[in-house]
Amino acid sequence: MDDCIFCKIANGVIPSATVYEDEEFRAFLDLGPASKGHTLIVPKKHAKDVTELDQETAGKALVLAGKIGEAMKKGLGCTGFNVVANTGVSAGQTIFHFHMHVIPRYDDGEKIVEWVPGSNTDEERAEILDAIRSAL
Ligand code: AMP
Ligand code: ZN
Repeated sequence: MDDCIFCKIANGVIPSATVYEDEEFRAFLDLGPASKGHTLIVPKKHAKDVTELDQETAGKALVLAGKIGEAMKKGLGCTGFNVVANTGVSAGQTIFHFHMHVIPRYDDGEKIVEWVPGSNTDEERAEILDAIRSAL
């Protein structure tokens, strides 16, 4: 993908503040951090989003997120972290090369990923189940 900025960063064509690198992944600091230490985990092989990942890459990315999050707790003093993969424009994805945000959370910091809990009826839940299950 010649015009993909995360292909270029992940493969070292464009420099980045690299937290971790191996043959398949690069993890680097987000340029617009939601909190101190906000890191992106990016596979070197292009996939537009989570729907294009193979099982091995997806599994390794999630394990790596856990390792980096633990390192953030030890190294930065955060007490938790969010692991987020925005998928699609409506979900806030702006770069269409799969990446996982690892966002450190601090006891005195604001909540970054939250929503107001909604509700639904038994009928609505049944319809929703049918819609998702029949499309799997
Ligand atoms: P998303 O909105 O989930 O697609 O996330 C894209 C993220 O990439 C945003 O948090 C941006 O701040 C970050 N970003 C964009 N360009 C760069 C870059 N060159 N280096 C590091 N982070 C970047
Ligand atoms: Zn790419």
